[in-house]
Amino acid sequence: MLPLHFDNAFLRELPGDPSAAPGPREVAGALYTQVLPTPVAAPRVLAHSAEMATALGFDADEAASDGFAQVFGGNALMPGMQPWAANYGGHQFGVWAGQLGDGRAISLGEAVAADGARWELQLKGAGPTPYSRGADGRAVLRSSIREFLCSEAMHHLGIPTTRALCLVGTGEAVVRDMLYDGHPQAEPGAIVCRASPSFIRFGSFELPAARGDTALLRQLVDFTIRRDFPSLTGQGESLYGDWFGEICARTAQLMAGWMRVGFVHGVMNTDNMSILGLTLDYGPYGWIDDYDPDWTPNTTDAQRRRYRYGQQPNVAWWNLSRLAAALAPLFGDIAPLQAGLDRYAAVYAEADRASIAAKLGLAACSDEDVALMQSLQALLHEAEVDMALWFRGLADLDPQHPALQPLHEAFYDEAKRQAHEASFADWLARYAARLAGDSLPPAERHARMRAANPRYVLRNYLAQQAIERAEQGDNAGIHELLDVLRHPYDEQPGREAFARKRPDWARHKPGCSMLSCSS
Ligand code: AMP
Ligand code: MG
Repeated sequence: MLPLHFDNAFLRELPGDPSAAPGPREVAGALYTQVLPTPVAAPRVLAHSAEMATALGFDADEAASDGFAQVFGGNALMPGMQPWAANYGGHQFGVWAGQLGDGRAISLGEAVAADGARWELQLKGAGPTPYSRGADGRAVLRSSIREFLCSEAMHHLGIPTTRALCLVGTGEAVVRDMLYDGHPQAEPGAIVCRASPSFIRFGSFELPAARGDTALLRQLVDFTIRRDFPSLTGQGESLYGDWFGEICARTAQLMAGWMRVGFVHGVMNTDNMSILGLTLDYGPYGWIDDYDPDWTPNTTDAQRRRYRYGQQPNVAWWNLSRLAAALAPLFGDIAPLQAGLDRYAAVYAEADRASIAAKLGLAACSDEDVALMQSLQALLHEAEVDMALWFRGLADLDPQHPALQPLHEAFYDEAKRQAHEASFADWLARYAARLAGDSLPPAERHARMRAANPRYVLRNYLAQQAIERAEQGDNAGIHELLDVLRHPYDEQPGREAFARKRPDWARHKPGCSMLSCSS
């Protein structure tokens, strides 16, 4: 394999754990522990992202080679790799959880690609670290497939995300009690190699702050700004304020992106919030089928629904307020932190309006258009209508004859459709009248709507089908899905099946409509 160039700045510039003792423990005064992946029996590459491989300079033959499987299965290191597990804390479900850290993720190094881009390569499921808190440090195939596919799907949707280079089967079993109902089972194990310019999280700052270690907090802030926000200039508190404002703005854009495509993260704990505003940590996430702002895929959150779809923009604000509290010791006057939170609200409101305009095919979004979208959303919810199919179909509406009939396939329940027929007719008439007064020519409107409303998303049941095939040894379902999701906004003749609404059998099936954190 061609050598990669590594520049492990995180390790070089920040304090690490002086101890190499194994076993779970508290690690104070350090931002990481150097720890090697635990080798696996028979690593095999099950899938890889061609785009990510190319970005790093691997060709298809290399990605299929045994050497590649050995490295990304955790059995071998390339020159320059210096593996570590990061130390961070977090608020989980609204409660401070103390030290968490990379319990099953091990970073291999920061690869610098030919174009100068920095990609921290990180194995998820590579074995225990001091942060494993007694768990095994491994990951099952089903959750690894989900992380691999969704990372790349989000990227192709144009939504900021960590990436995935490859999915490696370990040849070893992992025992999990998937439904937490006392039925542990052996499942195939796997490792995903994730890639991101940085895996630093809100919780990375919260931990030193919670421990009163302001010097370490400041060191990490200075490092993060220097390495990950090179466009920010200035000094001292004003630089810190600009930086926090930038994090707020990016997070707002991220939330608007999730809401536009119907993505529900499922576990928006502060340890899962990227400082770069990327989608991070694909666990029990899900995609909206029938439009429902109260839906969450995460069974662990089924009671309180803290992380339900419609709540995500508010949760992000709360998470940013936790980050602000952690950064407060660096500020004499906390006004810039408040200004950052206000910026979050303003950027989100603006991005949401841009989404409404794009989803409805309008030149711009007025207050009345916000109301128009809200009344549509209420209808979609009440009548149980598929979000992706509805918006995609709406682009083909003839404003001269705004008929519901071509959109019938988006409805899950025939009786509900009939009950709401008149309300939909009213709404379509309002919408058609709005379009008549809009300045966008029809062809541009159509293109605008198609670019904002994906035809193909990683529907929960599609991922589950690929998983079940892979568990039987057939990886073609993963490859096919990965390929479809490369062009989510394009019509792909012959691949209509991947755009279909959730079939009835998948309505309440584990993996399809409900996911546990057991992964
Ligand atoms: P998550 O909910 O996946 O973001 O994980 C929360 C914390 O639990 C993180 O510190 C993870 O590294 C850790 N964790 C989750 N699963 C495992 C596992 N199988 N072994 C060790 N640590 C884990
Ligand atoms: Mg996590």
